[in-house]
Amino acid sequence: MPATPSAESAAPSSKGAPFDAHDPLGIDDLLTDEDRAVRATVRRWTAERILPSIADWYERGELPGIRELARELGSIGALGMSLTGYGCAGASAVQYGLACLELEAADSGIRSLVSVQGSLAMYAIWRFGSEEQKERWLPRMSAGEVLGCFGLTEPDIGSDPGAMRTHAKRDGTDWVLNGRKMWITNGSVAGVAVVWARTDDGIRGFVVPTDTPGFSAPEIKHKWSLRASVTSELVLDEVRLPADAVLPGATGLRGPLGCLSHARYGIVWGSMGAARASFEAALDYAKTREQFGKPIGGFQLTQAKLADMAVELHKGILLAHHLGLRMDAGRLRPEQVSFGKLNNVREAIEICRTARTILGANGISLEYPVMRHATNLESVLTYEGTVEMHQLVLGKALTGLDAFR
Ligand SMILES: Cc1cc2nc3c(=O)[nH]c(=O)nc-3n(C[C@H](O)[C@H](O)[C@H](O)COP(=O)(O)OP(=O)(O)OC[C@H]3O[C@@H](n4cnc5c(N)ncnc54)[C@H](O)[C@@H]3O)c2cc1C
Repeated sequence: MPATPSAESAAPSSKGAPFDAHDPLGIDDLLTDEDRAVRATVRRWTAERILPSIADWYERGELPGIRELARELGSIGALGMSLTGYGCAGASAVQYGLACLELEAADSGIRSLVSVQGSLAMYAIWRFGSEEQKERWLPRMSAGEVLGCFGLTEPDIGSDPGAMRTHAKRDGTDWVLNGRKMWITNGSVAGVAVVWARTDDGIRGFVVPTDTPGFSAPEIKHKWSLRASVTSELVLDEVRLPADAVLPGATGLRGPLGCLSHARYGIVWGSMGAARASFEAALDYAKTREQFGKPIGGFQLTQAKLADMAVELHKGILLAHHLGLRMDAGRLRPEQVSFGKLNNVREAIEICRTARTILGANGISLEYPVMRHATNLESVLTYEGTVEMHQLVLGKALTGLDAFR
């Protein structure tokens, strides 16, 4: 056996498909025709509607036409995609994941819009709501006519939501909510907010129409990440709700944590979309940019970077696909979602940073997508459980010892 692969043994075999730089492991073979059709639909939509404008929106720190975009996302079945009934597409977990990957290959802000709508706000109502709540909200949310947000984080409470201060008190049969939520995606544009609050019976979820007196959602400005995404504070000042505003199926932290697990699954795929876009930008650049008389992709140091990026990118996609199959089989554990989120977001940032170095000075320009993806991923690394929280989840699962406090 030769110590290193010979040129002959590395050559494409006539029996196998030729090597594909965009799919070196042949992961495409694992997908069904329907999976590929879903992916193609979302990819086409982002190519037409997001990619031509995203750099401009990012620079301006806006997501203009968000309501129109939401209706279009509804029309292609991307909102509440893996949920069933109420106008939802009933897609498989793998198909939902592929959609997240394509959306985030355009921008994490667009994937966040879809994740919060489908996996947090809609999922909370779908999983824990009454039939009346589902009928009232889900059909319009899946069509993108009503946007939803999910209020868990507070100004002083992030990784430890069990310590939340927002509270709901009974007044006759009504509930009265007071408190603040912070860093809430879609907050200022939402027609309905799922708000988690402390009650005498523990933490409960409330479905709050955003035109309820006492509710306001000022937008948070001056972000250097997720700039093409609406992020808001929620202010709840004596917000009076009827008895049936509470989500009947969710008591305690199990409710919000279940929603977050669903959304994190989408991030396992989505982060690989940001990584793929950055890898492809770097690969193209490396083949055309010349220094010292030849393309920079011809230098061993650049090739080592590209090879390592490709390995992590496609390992990450394989991991996402594996978790998707487990979710479709009803066998996905929360610790496995933590495994995927921890690995894929961390590796996606690393891929973007390496891509940035290959682009040299051009790497910092908005003319290329790399820096935009890298800065977006700084938020993705933190929301839906920080890196450290997922390390602690895995650490506890591995050792049986709780190191959270
Ligand atoms: C753009 C954006 C959009 C968001 N959208 C939403 C949304 O729609 N809804 C929502 O509810 N929230 C949202 N969030 C909030 C997000 O979920 C929180 O930022 C996240 O949970 C972390 O909370 P924190 O920022 O308060 O950090 P903190 O919890 O204060 O943590 C700060 C640091 O301390 C570390 N740390 C904390 N505890 C420990 C410990 N026990 N051991 C070791 N390290 C620890 C953390 O890992 C982190 O590194 C969003 C955030 C961003 C940036």
